[in-house]
Amino acid sequence: MRGTPLDFFVQLHVTERCNLACRHCYQSGPVAEMSHQEVCRAITNVKTAVEGWARDYDMDISPSLHVTGGEPLLRDDLFPILSFARQCGFSASLMTNGTLVGAETARRIRMAEVGDVQVSLDGLESTHDRMRGRGAYRQALEGIRHLAGEGMPASINVTVSRLNMGQAGDLVAVAAHSGAGTLAFSRLVPSGRGRSLAPQALTSREVAAFHQDLKRHRGHARVTVTTRDPLASIPDVEGAIPDTEVPVAGCAAGMFGVTITADGTVMPCRRMDLGIGNIRTQSFRDLWADSPVLWKLRTRAEYHGRCGTCRFWPVCRGCRAVALAAARADGSEDFLGSDPQCPYFRLS
Ligand code: SF4
Ligand code: SF4
Repeated sequence: MRGTPLDFFVQLHVTERCNLACRHCYQSGPVAEMSHQEVCRAITNVKTAVEGWARDYDMDISPSLHVTGGEPLLRDDLFPILSFARQCGFSASLMTNGTLVGAETARRIRMAEVGDVQVSLDGLESTHDRMRGRGAYRQALEGIRHLAGEGMPASINVTVSRLNMGQAGDLVAVAAHSGAGTLAFSRLVPSGRGRSLAPQALTSREVAAFHQDLKRHRGHARVTVTTRDPLASIPDVEGAIPDTEVPVAGCAAGMFGVTITADGTVMPCRRMDLGIGNIRTQSFRDLWADSPVLWKLRTRAEYHGRCGTCRFWPVCRGCRAVALAAARADGSEDFLGSDPQCPYFRLS
């Protein structure tokens, strides 16, 4: 039966190269990036899978491609890639550090029919520049202004940690002043280079306090304040939670989307670096259907710890990347245990 289209996204990293070297970056080092032809074949591979699902299961699917890096604007063929993705029926978004978005680049992004441009900020100027290097904050805000000048209000993405958790109110003002339309927060995942920032990750109490603080900023006239954290909706969940074995919301990893890295490796999520295959040589549809890692992520009985018995499982499952990072700190690869930053298990 057809109904509301099912959103399905692929986060496509077109390069691991970057003009910055952020302290919390989840990338670990350079890789052999896919050529232009290989990127286009990867997009076609996903398109074929989506068309097959739509045909075989009579589904209406709305696919989107979130193009990122590294810094995607370092790729000479970025705009032809975006154009190819649009031709293949994907809606396209761009995730960038914003520092390379001048007036002409902003115009090209608009012409490429990119629906959403996400620019990363790590906090106010001193915090951001401590993480990314001197001058990066001003350059990112310039980029956001250029996008606004093209009628494209950017989404500002903030990775929340103890370094910036008290800055939400000021960041709303910065977003409004720079012409951004959305301010979105996600939790620090201490993986890749970000492992050294593990002591800055929020405790469960701090997560609850941060979510409480965010509520004060919702309803802003010009900026939509939101979070990409599955936990954030839990205190506001009203009515019965669907008692189902099928995820209906929450962590997207392997459920509503996947990541493809610059060398073609397919992962449940970029912050969860468990490769399940490579799109250069394998069918995307087969990978999606057959990966044991993805099936475990989708199977309630595989979860344990607090998430294994929690009634919020269908709408949450915590952040699997945070769970994996915590497990790795204890020497294991268990990505199905508790999200150690969850303050809400007691509500279940
Ligand atoms: S225990 Fe797990 S599923 Fe339940 S609210 Fe916490 S993170 Fe979400
Ligand atoms: S593991 Fe899930 S919640 Fe965590 S960053 Fe990835 S998609 Fe988001």
